[in-house]
Amino acid sequence: MFLGGIVLSFHKKDCLERVKSLMSNDDEASFRYACLELRQCIESIAYAKLKNYKKVVPESQFSEWHPKRVFDFLLEMEPKADKDYHLNIYEEDENGNPKKLVFSGDHKTISLQYIKKNYNKIGYYLHTPTLNKQAEYHEASTKLKRYLDKLVKELEPIIDCTFDSRMGIAAHFNCHDCGQSVYHNLETIKIGKNIRCLNEQCGKIYYVENYIDEKPLVKPIQMKITCDCGNDIYVDQHKVKENTYIDCECGDRYLIDKRWVYRKET
Ligand SMILES: [Zn+2]
Ligand SMILES: [Zn+2]
Repeated sequence: MFLGGIVLSFHKKDCLERVKSLMSNDDEASFRYACLELRQCIESIAYAKLKNYKKVVPESQFSEWHPKRVFDFLLEMEPKADKDYHLNIYEEDENGNPKKLVFSGDHKTISLQYIKKNYNKIGYYLHTPTLNKQAEYHEASTKLKRYLDKLVKELEPIIDCTFDSRMGIAAHFNCHDCGQSVYHNLETIKIGKNIRCLNEQCGKIYYVENYIDEKPLVKPIQMKITCDCGNDIYVDQHKVKENTYIDCECGDRYLIDKRWVYRKET
C-alpha cells in the first residue's frame, strides 16, 4: 500500500499498531478503519503460519492463495493446533543425548477456528448495511470498541511470539479434475473421510478409500446414473443441483430431482 510516500506494511505487528492508534481516536469512524487493519492483521497471522508449510506446499502455489484459501488449508492441516506450548531445542552429544540448550521459548497461539470466526465478524463492519439493517448496525457499533479492545488483548501475545512450528504432517494427492495438489493432515485421515479440493474453481469432493505408506487412496464422490442404453454416467456430487439436466450421449436426458424422505425417530 502506498500513501503519501509512506509504504504501509502488511506485517501483523504493524497492522496491530495501527489498530491501537486508531482505537485511541475514540470515534466510530476510526473503529471502522480499525476493523480493516485488524482483518489484515489476522490475514497476516495466517500467511505467517502458512510459511511453515513451505516444505510441503510449493511456494509458487501458496504465494497465489487469497486469505480464504489460506484459512481453508490451515484448518485442514491444523484442526487441533491451538495449544500454547514451551519449546526447548538441544544440541545432541555423540550418543544422541541432549547436550546444550540452543533455543528456549514459549509459543502462544489461538485456534484458526477462533481467527476465522472473528475475521468474519469484523468483516460485518466493513460494508454498508442495507437500509433496513442500518439501525441494527449502529446498535452493534456501540459494542464495537469493547469487542475490538478484547481482540487486541487476545492477539497481542500471538503477534509477539517469534516462532511457530508445523503441527500437521501433510499428505497429498493430485485432483483428478484440476490437477492441483490436494493437501490433508495425515494424522486426521480416516477411511471414509471426505476431502475437498480447495481450488475454488474446482471443489471436487473425494472420500478416502484407503491409505498405504502415508498416501491416501481416494475416490471422487459421484452419483451414478445408469441410462436405459446401458451407459453409466457419473456426476460429481458437488455439481449435483436440483432441477438440472444430465445428458447421455445416446440423447436421453435425466432431470435431477430432490425427494424428501422420512424415517421414524428412535
Ligand atoms: Zn480440483
Ligand atoms: Zn443413454
